[in-house]
Amino acid sequence: MDANELYDPEFRKLIKSKKSTIIIPVGSIEQHGAHLPITTDSDIVTEIASRLAKKCGFIVFPTISYGLSFEHEPLSSISIRDVDYRSFLDDILWSLGKMSVNLSSVIILNGHHGNLEALKKLPTYLKKHFAPHEGMPKCYSYWHFMKHEFDHAGFVETSLMLAISDKVKMKKAKKGLITKGLSEKEKKRINKLSTQPGGFPKVAKNGVWGDPTGATKKDGEKFLAEIVRNLAKECQS
Ligand SMILES: [Zn+2]
Repeated sequence: MDANELYDPEFRKLIKSKKSTIIIPVGSIEQHGAHLPITTDSDIVTEIASRLAKKCGFIVFPTISYGLSFEHEPLSSISIRDVDYRSFLDDILWSLGKMSVNLSSVIILNGHHGNLEALKKLPTYLKKHFAPHEGMPKCYSYWHFMKHEFDHAGFVETSLMLAISDKVKMKKAKKGLITKGLSEKEKKRINKLSTQPGGFPKVAKNGVWGDPTGATKKDGEKFLAEIVRNLAKECQS
């Protein structure tokens, strides 16, 4: 169920029943090459969260579209600092806690790699504000629930966008950084540099990691189904 379908009495009743799981999707606003919108991460994670909620009977909250994308500077990056990001999430969880939601029934669904470090630190941060019996939210990054290696504006992400949006400009899709065939040492160096502030365009000049030119809607549908199936299994176990 989407939060925009919830009304106060119903929402409080649902929370009281203790059976409700709440998903908070988190994305980013950042460059995704010339062919995908800057909202790509937020668009994809919103769609996955909505499908997951439908499949499992969860409540899905509005996506936190802004994230930490400093690695994409000086290309498009609208970013929030680590400490502010955690405070923001902390306040949302605090509000839910005050409504007697057990935080272990909250899922933060991440759609952007750059948010990972801040999200990893979230439990330590939260423990200062919540008692242990209140539980901790679960945090999942959706690309960990698919077999295919993930990319940035490459084959996988472009296929996913073709499956959920009519905003993809395939004529502008250009091959970007290809790491296949590089030594492990070189791959490590590239991986590390790509996550530093301003590092991504240094390793992928056109902002693309992978090759989007062969992306299809059909592949995107397959990835989506796989991700939602695996996430549902994890959430219900
Ligand atoms: Zn992305």
